[in-house]
Amino acid sequence: MTEKFLELAKAKETISFKPTRTTGLERLKQFVGRTGRRYTSTRNYDFGTERRCNVSALSPWLRHRLITEKEVLATVLAAHGFNVAEKFVQEVFWRTYFKGWLEQRPSVWALYQRDLLSACERLASDEDLEIRFNEAVKGNTGIDCFDHWAQELVATGYLHNHTRMWFASIWIFTLRLPWQLGADFFLRHLLDGDPSSNTLSWRWVGGLHTKGKTYLARPDNIAKYTEGRFQPKGLAKFAEPLTEQVDHPLIPLSSPRSPPDCPYLLLLTEDDLSGESVMPTSPATAIGLLATHGRSPNPMGDAAKDFAKGAISSALEPYEKPAKSADDWCGPLIEAARNAGVTTIATAYSPVGPTRSRLDRVEPLLRDAGLSLIRIMRPYDAITWPHARAGYFGLRKKIPLLLDQLNLPFQRRL
Ligand SMILES: Cc1cc2nc3c(=O)[nH]c(=O)nc-3n(C[C@H](O)[C@H](O)[C@H](O)COP(=O)(O)OP(=O)(O)OC[C@H]3O[C@@H](n4cnc5c(N)ncnc54)[C@H](O)[C@@H]3O)c2cc1C
Repeated sequence: MTEKFLELAKAKETISFKPTRTTGLERLKQFVGRTGRRYTSTRNYDFGTERRCNVSALSPWLRHRLITEKEVLATVLAAHGFNVAEKFVQEVFWRTYFKGWLEQRPSVWALYQRDLLSACERLASDEDLEIRFNEAVKGNTGIDCFDHWAQELVATGYLHNHTRMWFASIWIFTLRLPWQLGADFFLRHLLDGDPSSNTLSWRWVGGLHTKGKTYLARPDNIAKYTEGRFQPKGLAKFAEPLTEQVDHPLIPLSSPRSPPDCPYLLLLTEDDLSGESVMPTSPATAIGLLATHGRSPNPMGDAAKDFAKGAISSALEPYEKPAKSADDWCGPLIEAARNAGVTTIATAYSPVGPTRSRLDRVEPLLRDAGLSLIRIMRPYDAITWPHARAGYFGLRKKIPLLLDQLNLPFQRRL
């Protein structure tokens, strides 16, 4: 069975990462037939950029919620039922888990940002570190697979999941570079660059998420799952867990707020571009504001920047308003609300990350200007996030229950 699937999965297929909801839905339609047993047996292989037949590559659209997790799950479950698509469903729930987990431990994101700044300062004062870092991000380390992936990331904005794990492991344990600089390199270049999935995955590889448990990239595993494209030499043979001296307290989740029952301005952000679907009525109009430059103190990669900008512009098309990339969100929001003649601004809830920080800063200023900002949490997040307090497997056990609560068909098909 696996042999047959493997042959099928190696077919040529390059993905067009166009930042529109229509393209995301088309990719979902194209891939849904492969989210069953074929995905389970072949998903760990990275056949290269021109052979993305075995994974969905839906993450850029999901990350910006041009399409939502619930839509993807509903489509996949309708096509296969839970028992056949269980693995794919579980992968989507990894995303949900990371978002819910970081939401309840926001100090992890704050610490990452602080340590990233320190690592960037060290780059400026430590010549050896600077040289090694530049070799890594330019793909000049001499480790063939790593160099290939560094260049693939910058050129395409996408890496296969297994490759992200190998890359992070080589970065931390072979090249011995600070993990925060690697996470930043990913966040600046990935089209799906996401504060929760990215930060927590790097921490997971380094042994900080599941304390003491690291991920070691092994040459034979890389050779197998790249089908012999790479056979790296000189990789670290041990992965000593990273440590940190701080505990991250669990904080309560925000309570969901009621959607506006008066005319409002819809604020679209890169965290949720299907914002209108959480509101009971249509907005007076909409505005789109970008916070991509808040992802990093360093410049964003062109592919990731263009995807986020294009995504927000395409979501604004029905409103005929261009997206704004502004440091100051307050001025454009006040102006747009005044022009629309409303005193309420509503937006889909942003989880921990740059957009959320922007919203937190702007909310009191809007209040001073007589405007209220309402952040509406999706029922999907409100139902799933409370189960992301500890390890992923705790949430995984609850998937059938959660699908049921989300009114998604959990019935196992025979
Ligand atoms: C070091 C590292 C950094 C990562 N950074 C990001 C990131 O910034 N943004 C991001 O969306 N994902 C990140 N991931 C998770 C994962 O690699 C990607 O979500 C996945 O590769 C996207 O490809 P796909 O859509 O083809 O996945 P598929 O295999 O087709 O999976 C379907 C969907 O499930 C979700 N998913 C699958 N695997 C994971 C996972 N391990 N963690 C979280 N969600 C998952 C994604 O939304 C994905 O689109 C990272 C993983 C690692 C190891």
